[in-house]
Amino acid sequence: PGDKGLARRSNWSSDSAGSWESLYRVVLLGDPGVGKTSLVNLFAGVPERDVPELLGEDTYECTLSVDDEETKLLVMDTWEPDEKNRSHNCCLQMGNAYIIVYSVTDRSSFESASELRIQLRRTRQAENIPIILVGNKTDLVRCREVSVEEGRACAVVFDCKFIETSAALQHNVAELFEGVVRQLRLRRDGSEA
Ligand code: GDP
Repeated sequence: PGDKGLARRSNWSSDSAGSWESLYRVVLLGDPGVGKTSLVNLFAGVPERDVPELLGEDTYECTLSVDDEETKLLVMDTWEPDEKNRSHNCCLQMGNAYIIVYSVTDRSSFESASELRIQLRRTRQAENIPIILVGNKTDLVRCREVSVEEGRACAVVFDCKFIETSAALQHNVAELFEGVVRQLRLRRDGSEA
């Protein structure tokens, strides 16, 4: 318990030498209620892609075709802020890419996102892993507490990509996951060069 199947799947490594095309682990981070599960459910349910397989609780495998190349992602919605230490470290150690989600209607979730970015940087210091900062719930216009400019500025400071989404309106969700794939490929191609 706690790992939610992470340990069981730790042999699904995609970063061992020469197996780049296999499977990338994408870990979702962020406060409860910001929309992580909604985003991944939409992604896993997006039509015209390979039927996703639910690989145990909160972990989804999906194949994305981006720029005429297929890439398999294992998306992990396993982050639980209250579970310190083991489960946390596991999440922070095992991702090939990270999606840090906050809600644009909740400033404290934006602050948590910054803290998560700092934690990630500390844990994976030497590694150049793709990180995407996501401001979700843009449909709730009147409740907005974090402006798009603030989100963008934060991403610049933290040297990561940025996108605003609405899981409710299905806005920018496909773009988010395609962006993750492109970021992973940039690093793959860079490391091969
Ligand atoms: P998680 O705890 O981060 O996984 O968040 P959930 O995906 O469970 O979402 C928490 C609540 O926010 C649910 O009631 C969702 O329906 C709602 N929600 C998620 N994304 C959006 C969004 O983009 N817009 C709106 N209006 N509600 C959202």
